[in-house]
Amino acid sequence: MTEASDTLFSKIIRREIPATIVYEDELAIAFRDINPQAPVHILVVPKKPIPKLADAVPEDHRILGHLLMTVKRVADQEGLENGYRVVINTGADGGQTVYHLHLHLLGGRAMGWPPG
Ligand code: 5GP
Repeated sequence: MTEASDTLFSKIIRREIPATIVYEDELAIAFRDINPQAPVHILVVPKKPIPKLADAVPEDHRILGHLLMTVKRVADQEGLENGYRVVINTGADGGQTVYHLHLHLLGGRAMGWPPG
């Protein structure tokens, strides 16, 4: 596996790979997914390169809370007053492909359930 500190998303954070960034602060960054699955599809990513949710430690609780508040902020910014879905794919069975923790913010259409 790629070093967590040198993930695709770390390269976006360091501006080595271009992305459409919609929000950034000292703990997190949010940018549009390159392969959107909904009219609004934004990834909210911690600057700390935690590989996946299962690797988070108790000291990460502030970052994890901040990520959810960032999703809320960005959803407001995007005008998703009708609702939205937040997804964290975790590990192989979760369908995770990039091993740098990220929250998918999906909106702009009604979502189905259950997910595939
Ligand atoms: P995962 O499958 O790990 O939950 O989600 C990874 C997401 O990253 C996918 O939705 C994929 O489209 C997105 N992605 C992969 N490479 C890039 C990239 O270079 N730029 C952006 N903006 N998104 C990417």
